[in-house]
Amino acid sequence: MHEMSLAGGILRVVEQTAEREGFTRVQQLTLEAGALAGVEVRALRFALEALAPGSALEGAEIVIQEPPGQAWCMRCGTTVAIQTRADPCPHCGGFQLQPTGGTELRVVDLLVQD
Ligand SMILES: [Zn+2]
Repeated sequence: MHEMSLAGGILRVVEQTAEREGFTRVQQLTLEAGALAGVEVRALRFALEALAPGSALEGAEIVIQEPPGQAWCMRCGTTVAIQTRADPCPHCGGFQLQPTGGTELRVVDLLVQD
């Protein structure tokens, strides 16, 4: 499962941060999974919860923000909102779209326990 390896990557980032900043437990982890990032949010949450026991994420609240997809339409010369990378431009129906927003999976914030 794709999301399991993504969750493993996120956990590594968290553990590296924990080591660098000297905390052991995360209270709240906030992630951003853009609509165009190709991430199944429910599967990602499930994978993180499966990996959490025994790690810095054990017992942490996991918040996943889902910024909407945005793309630049070359035909319209404007930024439009799209739901998936396969969507046509909502204005002209064209497919010459360059995704510009909602494409990232990243850690936004870590709230740690004292
Ligand atoms: Zn267009």
